[in-house]
Amino acid sequence: MKKIAIIGGGIIGMTLANYLDTQQFEITLYDDGIGQATKASAGIISPWLSKRRNKKWYQLAKDGAAFFPKLVKDFELGTSVYNQTGTVIFRKDDELDALYDFAQQRLIDTPEMGSIERLSEEETTAALPLLKPRKALKISGGGKLDGLAYLEKLAQLAKGKGIRLINKKVELRQLDNKLVILDNGNSEIFDIVFVTAGPAIKNLLAPLGYNVDIRPQKGQLLEFETTHLESHDWPVVMLDGEADFIPFEQGKILIGATHENEGEWDLTPTQAAYDQLWSHAKEFLVEPYSFQKSPFNYRVGTRAYTSDFAPFFGEVEPKSNLLVASGLGSSGLTVGPLIGYLLAQKVNHGIWQTEHYQKPIESYIKKTRIVT
Ligand SMILES: Cc1cc2nc3c(=O)[nH]c(=O)nc-3n(C[C@H](O)[C@H](O)[C@H](O)COP(=O)(O)OP(=O)(O)OC[C@H]3O[C@@H](n4cnc5c(N)ncnc54)[C@H](O)[C@@H]3O)c2cc1C
Repeated sequence: MKKIAIIGGGIIGMTLANYLDTQQFEITLYDDGIGQATKASAGIISPWLSKRRNKKWYQLAKDGAAFFPKLVKDFELGTSVYNQTGTVIFRKDDELDALYDFAQQRLIDTPEMGSIERLSEEETTAALPLLKPRKALKISGGGKLDGLAYLEKLAQLAKGKGIRLINKKVELRQLDNKLVILDNGNSEIFDIVFVTAGPAIKNLLAPLGYNVDIRPQKGQLLEFETTHLESHDWPVVMLDGEADFIPFEQGKILIGATHENEGEWDLTPTQAAYDQLWSHAKEFLVEPYSFQKSPFNYRVGTRAYTSDFAPFFGEVEPKSNLLVASGLGSSGLTVGPLIGYLLAQKVNHGIWQTEHYQKPIESYIKKTRIVT
């Protein structure tokens, strides 16, 4: 049986592990969990009104969102993990008409958006009673994924299939075309290695002579524990500006997230992030802010960005036994499961058709020296 290692157990690595064929492969997943974006994330799955001009990225994000019903079925995800409660979008009144027209255009070839509704002030407050009366747009197909709950569920499934999950930081080397994982002085040879380690891919591939176009970005969000137990069915709200409002189970409400380029790998929660997120969100909430006094936590994670803000995934070079995926930026929960599935299809069945989703991988990864 061929041996596969996956370095990085975020949304890509964990989805990939669960879609790999355990009849063909013996699978080990290594993850040190530090700075992981997936467990820190906000969870919004609603890419359709993005104004990004990158058509390949949009195709990937659109198909990534459309992949969710299959994901839910394949891994039997309950609504505490993924819930399609719709997305409410705020814009200035004079921009809402144009946004509505844009949404109608996108709906033509995107049935998974569901219905697009203009909400009156009263309807907005009825949809989510903490919101000030304000006109909005609602897309019924929008959903929310609890990143941490997803990883816990998939880890449980992986263990049941005999996949080894190892909670350690590892390094990678190449010796005579063999890929070797170094783990605290121990070494193990693998037939195929996937590196799905977020921005840490740069350091992992450097000893093999590759330079990766990737940088880390710090992201913080606030997680409130409120008494609003009805929050389970509330829609996600994309506030007009930098912060969004994401209600989960049992009164858990997230407000996020920051995008701090200069923060890079730093994982320290900051008062400045609290002030920025809360002062923005409260403009949209009714007073008294019932949960402002609730206990809250910070979540801090590290996103991975390429120079053109687009992800890359696949073989590092043609016919290589080293495969990679990174650069998911701020939409990784949306595109990560589809990328994990496509990578698994590649090694399970040799199926690979991704030119419509990404530029050639050499746009992001270059061999800068030969390692002997
Ligand atoms: C605050 C915040 C909010 C976000 N909100 C959203 C959102 O609403 N919607 C959306 O679609 N996306 C969102 N994202 C983006 C999304 O979370 C990420 O793009 C996605 O989770 C990246 O997944 P990944 O599997 O590539 O990497 P990660 O989840 O970062 O996982 C990589 C893993 O590799 C491990 N690793 C690294 N090096 C090593 C090593 N040497 N050995 C062992 N393990 C290693 C790391 O510890 C980590 O656990 C958000 C991100 C953040 C930070």
